[in-house]
Amino acid sequence: MGSQKVHPSSDELEAYAVGSASDAILDKVEEHLLICERCRIELALSDQYVWAMKKAVAVPEAGRRLRSIHVTEDGPIFGTIHSGADGKWIARQWGRQLDGGRTCDSMEEANAYLIDSFHQMFPEHFCSETCREEFF
Ligand SMILES: [Zn+2]
Ligand SMILES: [Zn+2]
Repeated sequence: MGSQKVHPSSDELEAYAVGSASDAILDKVEEHLLICERCRIELALSDQYVWAMKKAVAVPEAGRRLRSIHVTEDGPIFGTIHSGADGKWIARQWGRQLDGGRTCDSMEEANAYLIDSFHQMFPEHFCSETCREEFF
């Protein structure tokens, strides 16, 4: 058990963040993150960077809507977009302790709302493999 107290190197954290870590490193980092706040925060910072890059690639796919599940300390947070009346789009985000939404003029605006509002509510969140974000 003692080995978990050793912080992963920033190279290992980086590999984990971008998804290029070997299985051995993946296991080691994941176990360590469960017990180490400092490394979670360090990873959150680098992961948001990677995440922003992904977002920049994903959003230009016009005509697709975002569906997301983020597993947070408050439980899973779901995001969906429905088409509403009058050509509007309804973005909704909910979890155990929240239920929010907004009516948007375009699908792109609704996608952006879901992404932005989630990151405002959970600025420390980093996506694990249990999170899902997809455009469909
Ligand atoms: Zn650590
Ligand atoms: Zn997430």
